[in-house]
Amino acid sequence: MAGLIPESFIDELLQRVDIVDVIGARVQLKRAGKEYQARCPFHDERSPSFTVVPQKQFYHCFGCGAHGSALKFVMDYEGVSFPTRSSNWRRRRA
Ligand SMILES: [Zn+2]
Repeated sequence: MAGLIPESFIDELLQRVDIVDVIGARVQLKRAGKEYQARCPFHDERSPSFTVVPQKQFYHCFGCGAHGSALKFVMDYEGVSFPTRSSNWRRRRA
């Protein structure tokens, strides 16, 4: 089993992290009631349409439709930093 990541690992990881901490470490979040809002890191915008819902542990952008868990956010967000992955990223959402 050495080197293999158990299937339950990711579920377990997601249960331990708070999506607000994960996204808040990378994007400036503003509290809005039970949710948090920010300017979406995945597309250019002036007014925040990126929403983080702590109760459901997911994020959603009403501008570009980005949506997912803490883990997906990290993968997509970090992916933007790399030029080669960035072009793949744009194509996926085109
Ligand atoms: Zn967006």
